[in-house]
Amino acid sequence: MNRPVTPFDASEHDAAALLARRSSVGDDVYEVLLSRLISLKIPPGARIGVDQLARELGVSQTPIRAALIRLETEGLVNKTHLVGFSAAPLPSRQRFEEIYQLRLLLEPYAAERAATALTAAGRAELAALAEAMARPSAEEAQLAYGKFANADARFHALIARVGGGELMAETLARLHTHMHLFRVLFHSRVTEEAIAEHARLLDALVAGDGPAARKAMASHIRQSLQRVAPILDTLDEGATPSGRLRLADSSNPPRRHA
Ligand SMILES: [Zn+2]
Repeated sequence: MNRPVTPFDASEHDAAALLARRSSVGDDVYEVLLSRLISLKIPPGARIGVDQLARELGVSQTPIRAALIRLETEGLVNKTHLVGFSAAPLPSRQRFEEIYQLRLLLEPYAAERAATALTAAGRAELAALAEAMARPSAEEAQLAYGKFANADARFHALIARVGGGELMAETLARLHTHMHLFRVLFHSRVTEEAIAEHARLLDALVAGDGPAARKAMASHIRQSLQRVAPILDTLDEGATPSGRLRLADSSNPPRRHA
């Protein structure tokens, strides 16, 4: 099945041009690879050749390897002895359901406690992340999408750490929920509901209203599951998703979500 043309389908020379314009090569290489992985342009399970990427992006192997190692810690890349780097497979449907069950147990609890534990600096950081997600980006869309995924992950991680402590933050981080979620949803029709959900959650946190923060977080996670559920229905256990995901109707380009 052909991929629909979406605003996130940047051509190769866009990525190279972008790298040429910008200064921090390491971060830029990371962002280009992140957006390709999340957009499934590098499909789950596909080998990632360091040489080839270095040639294509016009950089040395060093920033490519550094970016791949960072993406490995974020759950998007696997490194195998003698084989090298490959895109991580998507979690199975069962795994996704377990991830959401765990999130529903932990994150509303953390949000309730964070409402009273957040410092002014923490509140400001959350507000900045929520604002960055809500603001339309002038950047190339595929990169903007990768950054949105990162900001969403950081937003949830900060609430988990402040409200639940280091162990809870580490436990949730290990699930790599946001990276997987954005890969699954990339070609689907999604709404910007998540931005409004984040705003409600942030309001409760900033107001120091624990019960409202708990409720807002639980509702956000349930809504997120609702958004991903129709796509999970098309995923078989351990399947390679590229041909199985419900693809976007090209007349309805994907929008941002979480
Ligand atoms: Zn979120």
